[in-house]
Amino acid sequence: MSHGDDALTPLLQVRGLVKNFGTNRVLDGVDLEVRRGEVLVLIGPSGSGKTTVLRCLNALETPEAGVVDFDGGPTIDFAGKVGKSDRAAMRDRSAMVFQHHNLFPHLTVLQNVIEGPVQAHGVPKAEAAARAEALLDRVGLTEKRDAYPSELSGGQQQRVGIVRALALQPDLLLFDEPTSALDPELVGEVLKVLRGLADEGWTMVIVTHELGFAREVADEVLFFDEGVIVERGAPEVLFTAPKKERTRRFLDRLL
Ligand code: ADP
Repeated sequence: MSHGDDALTPLLQVRGLVKNFGTNRVLDGVDLEVRRGEVLVLIGPSGSGKTTVLRCLNALETPEAGVVDFDGGPTIDFAGKVGKSDRAAMRDRSAMVFQHHNLFPHLTVLQNVIEGPVQAHGVPKAEAAARAEALLDRVGLTEKRDAYPSELSGGQQQRVGIVRALALQPDLLLFDEPTSALDPELVGEVLKVLRGLADEGWTMVIVTHELGFAREVADEVLFFDEGVIVERGAPEVLFTAPKKERTRRFLDRLL
């Protein structure tokens, strides 16, 4: 496959992703594409495989089969042998923001943000710190740079988690239910940051139960059930006129 200049080539193409946990097949042939600057939102009932897709894309899980093809590399066929360097190459293309921010409690905000660039990418500390400060400023956390995670609200912690992912300068941002661990009054400030990133043209795949937000930012919504994508489409179509009964039932419960 040709890579590089063709702006129409998706940043990421996934074909036939299969993942088992023991005898439980949790992904049963997932196909998706992410174009540059596009926001994909994954919805579906709990246990339908959404998180597992993200974890496979970030090389935190190894699928049994399927092809993950990043434009510019790597292209990995999981039916064959997959080495450590393949996984490292995948991880270089994306950064994940977790439901629970996973900040290091013994490091300050700034130290948390520069840890990845300095340790994993060998960025000089001063450069990483300058970049981190600019990012913290963007999410309104400049004054918190020397605070420890325990001194922050849940929403502030999650914003630091997002900055930490941005600091890695990935091509693709993966969000795993970034607001579901937050108190309701803190959800808005995190969604606002995500909206800003979408407006700036970041390429993102977001697992969320915030359907109003999905409707606003998604270019495409994928509805998962039992390890397959049951239906996909533009939010204005999928949310108002779903074609499949399973999608309709899911949306009826939530909307
Ligand atoms: P969702 O994100 O849609 O809620 P998940 O991807 O988290 O779904 O989970 C899909 C299925 O895989 C669930 O049945 C879950 O119990 C199972 N699962 C996820 N992670 C593991 C694991 N590490 N070991 C065993 N089963 C797992």
